[in-house]
Amino acid sequence: MEKKKVCIVGGGAAGMIAAIMAARNHATVTVLEHNEKTGKKLLATGNGRCNLTNEKQEKGCYHSEHPDILWDVLQNFSFQQTLNFFKEIGIYPVSKNGYFYPSSMQASSVQELLEMEARFLKVKIKCKEHVKEIKVSGDAIEGSRFSVVTETWQYPADAVILACGSCASEIDGADGSGYTLAKQLGLKVINPLPALVPLKGKGNYFSKWSGTRIYGKIHLQSCNKIMQTEEGELQLTDYGVSGIPVFQLSGLAAQLLHNQHSVILNIDFLPDFTKKELEDLLQKRKELCPYKTTKELCIGLLPKKLIEVLVIKNMELSELTEKIKSFPLEIVGTKPFSNAQVCQGGVSLEEISSETMECKKIPGLYLAGELLDADGICGGYNLQWAWSSGACAGKEAALW
Ligand SMILES: Cc1cc2nc3c(=O)[nH]c(=O)nc-3n(C[C@H](O)[C@H](O)[C@H](O)COP(=O)(O)OP(=O)(O)OC[C@H]3O[C@@H](n4cnc5c(N)ncnc54)[C@H](O)[C@@H]3O)c2cc1C
Repeated sequence: MEKKKVCIVGGGAAGMIAAIMAARNHATVTVLEHNEKTGKKLLATGNGRCNLTNEKQEKGCYHSEHPDILWDVLQNFSFQQTLNFFKEIGIYPVSKNGYFYPSSMQASSVQELLEMEARFLKVKIKCKEHVKEIKVSGDAIEGSRFSVVTETWQYPADAVILACGSCASEIDGADGSGYTLAKQLGLKVINPLPALVPLKGKGNYFSKWSGTRIYGKIHLQSCNKIMQTEEGELQLTDYGVSGIPVFQLSGLAAQLLHNQHSVILNIDFLPDFTKKELEDLLQKRKELCPYKTTKELCIGLLPKKLIEVLVIKNMELSELTEKIKSFPLEIVGTKPFSNAQVCQGGVSLEEISSETMECKKIPGLYLAGELLDADGICGGYNLQWAWSSGACAGKEAALW
């Protein structure tokens, strides 16, 4: 029987696992990647250590306009199957409180082993090939259903997997061209917005607190409601706030701002104290050292740069307590896509079958990874989506 020709657009996380799965299922596979090498974004993941996945898999860890479709896809190639796959290709996964990394703690191991396995399976990897168009049936060449058009060549294919990723990050190649290809093919693209991104605040004091890291609790308030609460290490910057708790609620903030709603982050800089406990503590410190100014009273309790922002002249201790426990920061925007780790939005999951990742409108076309309307919180969830959707698309495209 003649082998199926599968062409994969994008040699990132989803594209490389798709290539391996398609080749294992006896297809002739070509990966077209416009960067000079595969997996450039992968190399930057987890601060260069690659947080591969997470053992806690719950619906609430992911977002999409169609969460049930997303969840079905994750069941098709589960967390456990993902770990097994990586063990097979040579990764020794280790858990840090349920967050999985390669034992080498090097994202480069993941990129290298994916490419090694693909090459062993005779996958053709063509770098510096920017795909600008995908022609379907009537226009196709050599009797194949698809023709994948780059600047220099046309690749015939029986099945195509679009795995172009999103426009998030400053890493080369994240140009959002996958959205253009999807739109050219008539697919619905939900407006992409940045997610897992720092937030810009309104105020003239940011240079004072810039560079401070502090454990805190943040409540995102909009429409007179607390919409999300996160806790962890905050990074106070010269434009506003960053850090994992900020990332976790940044997607919601981006959506609210996009829909013209106001967004306030209420920051609790000392979440271990109740208001009463904190006021009593400040009072006690004042009694112990009556010679200290209010600013001096805070030394040893809060970072110096933060004290400069929080304490103003002739302030009552009750007022200071209120400010420490409930500091209102008006959010005016997110940092741009280049500072985001992922995009929310993308090709609507309505366009695909959750069992196969095949496009309902265009048989033989498959989609995978962040190009789709699926994103996760920090902690290995975005890669898990890439592995699950990519593995499924690769296997099914070979069998098509
Ligand atoms: C700094 C950073 C850290 C992160 N850390 C983590 C983490 O630790 N854990 C986690 O789960 N997630 C993490 N993520 C998110 C994760 O990296 C992505 O969700 C994941 O890489 C998406 O995989 P993908 O294959 O869909 O897209 P990508 O990995 O972006 O791959 C898409 C590929 O397609 C290529 N391409 C695009 N358009 C074309 C075209 N027209 N022609 C040819 N090639 C094209 C691109 O060059 C790219 O190589 C991080 C992201 C960033 C930016």
